[in-house]
Amino acid sequence: MKSAEQLCRACGLCCDGTLFDLVKLEAGDDAAQLQSLGLPVKFSRGRTPVARFPQPCAALCADRTCRLYAARPWQCRTFECKSLKEAKAGRITFTSALKLVKQARRRADAVRRLLRALGDTDEHRALGERFHRTSERLEAGTDDEAAKAIFADLSLAVHQLKLLAHDKFYTKAEHSPPEP
Ligand code: SF4
Ligand code: SF4
Repeated sequence: MKSAEQLCRACGLCCDGTLFDLVKLEAGDDAAQLQSLGLPVKFSRGRTPVARFPQPCAALCADRTCRLYAARPWQCRTFECKSLKEAKAGRITFTSALKLVKQARRRADAVRRLLRALGDTDEHRALGERFHRTSERLEAGTDDEAAKAIFADLSLAVHQLKLLAHDKFYTKAEHSPPEP
């Protein structure tokens, strides 16, 4: 493992709904063009509408490349996670960064498995959104003791993913993973 491209091709966490629920467009981004290229860009209501599209991103390919690479929006062009930055600066090796990516992917997979065990099979939504929905459903009341036990495991798995994400991936306070 020697390059940023190889690392990101082994990862995809900043596009697949693990680290982010959505991508916000900025002033220089062309919402209409991105829509025409297949991204489901929507505008929030309110005085200053914000254009955004959900993750997992519709442009993410199976090999974890971006189908819209040349036209990708500002957030995508500028985001580099902490581990990638550290590796590019030579403070850690790319091999060490890959180990962190694999650890984060395992933790995200554990969250997905537990969500599925609780009946959420909606793989087209971001992990944070799925966790909130499942939390709301179960906190509304269930007598199912097995489901309660799985939910406790899920909360712990989300917490462990969040710790690693904050420690090794997020670079800004506003980038929020799922809340346990
Ligand atoms: S989370 Fe980091 S290593 Fe993974 S694809 Fe994004 S920038 Fe690359
Ligand atoms: S547009 Fe490309 S870089 Fe941006 S989230 Fe989607 S797949 Fe990732």
